[in-house]
Amino acid sequence: MSRGGNGLRGSLLISHTHWDHIQGIPFFDPLFARGAEWDVYGPNGPGASLREALAGQMQYDYFPVTLDEFGARIRFHDLVEGSFDIEDFKVSARYLNHPALTLAYRLEADGASIVYACDHEPHARMLALGEGELTGEDRRHAEFVAGADLLIHDAQYTAEEYPAKIGWGHSPIEYVVRLGQQARVKRLALTHHDPRRDDEAIDRMVQSNRERAGAVDVFAAYEGQIVHVGAPGAKAARRRSRELHAEAAVAPEPGERSVLLAVADAEASSTLSAALRAEGIRCDAFSSAERARTLIARERPWLTVIEHDPPRIEGMDMCRAIRSRTGEGDPVLPILMVAGEPDQQAGGAAGVTDWLIKPFSVAHARTKIREWVLRTARAPAACDAADGRATAPATQVCDAGKARRSGEPASAPATEMNGGRPAMIPDGDKSGLLWMFGREIASFDNPAFSSNVGRIIARAQTAPQRGAGKAASVRRFAGRRA
Ligand SMILES: [Zn+2]
Ligand SMILES: [Zn+2]
Repeated sequence: MSRGGNGLRGSLLISHTHWDHIQGIPFFDPLFARGAEWDVYGPNGPGASLREALAGQMQYDYFPVTLDEFGARIRFHDLVEGSFDIEDFKVSARYLNHPALTLAYRLEADGASIVYACDHEPHARMLALGEGELTGEDRRHAEFVAGADLLIHDAQYTAEEYPAKIGWGHSPIEYVVRLGQQARVKRLALTHHDPRRDDEAIDRMVQSNRERAGAVDVFAAYEGQIVHVGAPGAKAARRRSRELHAEAAVAPEPGERSVLLAVADAEASSTLSAALRAEGIRCDAFSSAERARTLIARERPWLTVIEHDPPRIEGMDMCRAIRSRTGEGDPVLPILMVAGEPDQQAGGAAGVTDWLIKPFSVAHARTKIREWVLRTARAPAACDAADGRATAPATQVCDAGKARRSGEPASAPATEMNGGRPAMIPDGDKSGLLWMFGREIASFDNPAFSSNVGRIIARAQTAPQRGAGKAASVRRFAGRRA
């Protein structure tokens, strides 16, 4: 943030648009300052640009001032993974493991570096329990945070609590401390504290993990805290401020390429189909590596999804066969392995790119698919032959409006809340937000919360749209159970 010219100028980096990360925006005074200019950056969620997602929480039903009534001039930038400059800062963005498309940010300036990584769950469950090695996507996450002067990281749970929170998209403290130590960060600020833990409990949690932190200075972040980073007065060569480039549309045309699917489990298969339908992506089923090979050559798919659940389906063998038969110079596609437990070592040897662990929700599947589609779309020719991951990040920043997807996603199946567990995550901006609010802040085992969500959605369905919000997103709920 800086002052100059006509007034205040600043940039806001948003990890994702779950309520607990954006609810302060309507109350953020500097956005109402006439003459001020703001750039707001964040990933665009499923079916909505960043601007649309932020406007959703400011519809007239919820707030008296709409997004268009801020006094400041605001530019919205839908981000994908990559690097770009904001003034003298180099900003790098990388996807995290969360049920919504979420970005971590690494900021570097004057020789100092800060990483913000919320919300994130380790990809391998063993890591979450404080065991196992950092491999695959977990290793890449460690590389992204490596050597940071300050790592601000999600640490909502403990390893003991984790088994009841699998798939919620948050990290146990034990894993985060180990990550900080192995990635040689200097200071580690634990945050995204569980709302049910009081200050004393958080202090005890930090204390009991200090020993294993070694040289890393671990502490719990608190509201209003100021942390100084880098040597005082140290100034590296000033970076020249560059304009943001790569104004290409963020979201690729979803229907133009397909996703290949070999999943035997009926529930996983129907959840993936619903996720692909909602994303507007075609899917081609296959049951042999030979067929996959033909489809890869013909369809240039975004992604291949294979299940490993022997003896029903030998996904690892199939993965190995696809990789071994992929010719020199062929585009290396990401292979997402669906399984009950990840086996990082065998997966790495077979050529698995990433894991999707059962059971998963439609929202989680959509996020994973979207993450890999965006990666494939961005660097189709720059894939690392070892694991299929794009290696040459390019910034893609769009002003709101340019980043719209061409088609409205198809409706997802009906919503059902089943004893506090999602049978199907509702599709749509508003109900998605409400659902995640329940996951992160309120209790699942609370019938009052579920019935409140139902009432709010029902009201949104019937209330006339007076604000500048997105009426279509509300209409999509019509006829569903909440
Ligand atoms: Zn979240
Ligand atoms: Zn959160």
